[in-house]
Amino acid sequence: MNRVPYSPDHDLSGVNSLEELKAMAVACTRCGLRSGCSGVVFGEGNPEARLMLIGEGPGADEDRMGRPFVGKAGQLLDKILEAAGLERFTHTYIANVVKCRPPGNRVPRPDEAARCLPWLYRQIELVSPGIIVLLGSTALQNLIDPAARITEMRGRWLVSKSGIKIMPTYHPAALLRDVSKKRPVWEDFQKVRDEYRKIMNS
Ligand code: SF4
Repeated sequence: MNRVPYSPDHDLSGVNSLEELKAMAVACTRCGLRSGCSGVVFGEGNPEARLMLIGEGPGADEDRMGRPFVGKAGQLLDKILEAAGLERFTHTYIANVVKCRPPGNRVPRPDEAARCLPWLYRQIELVSPGIIVLLGSTALQNLIDPAARITEMRGRWLVSKSGIKIMPTYHPAALLRDVSKKRPVWEDFQKVRDEYRKIMNS
């Protein structure tokens, strides 16, 4: 496994629960995305999950419902998890790099992601997962390396300094555009499932 320079840097160390963090995040105006969206989509799932999934940002459905991964891509993600024997609310916690919808679903700019990442970093620390799946290049580039390419990095385990195992794979929205990505994503999630079982049995 490759060690990665994942080094969370934030000013939220004093926030000691996801509820408290969410209450602060929903009032956030740290970047311009907040003025163009319906509200902050904080994230959801099992707060004690050993598996955390990180995507890019809310889309139109997520913005409307205030929940992550509820549109077509989210429904596909649910199916992939189910096929791997994982249930979203039981086994995972899901969040995004940015918590407000970028206009027109554009990729969040680096300055927007940089302002939002402290929320995610503290979420990761509070959930304390053993495995993180990075869904797509925005998650990969903002958490691991701005120059990393998802086509080269997907399917390969990385490990953070604190020992979190990290699997980059394609974003489910990419599968909706290109069905040839379904097989590699399924292979990646099989690895995630096997590692998850190992962690739960150790
Ligand atoms: S995207 Fe993140 S940093 Fe920007 S306003 Fe929303 S919660 Fe705050």
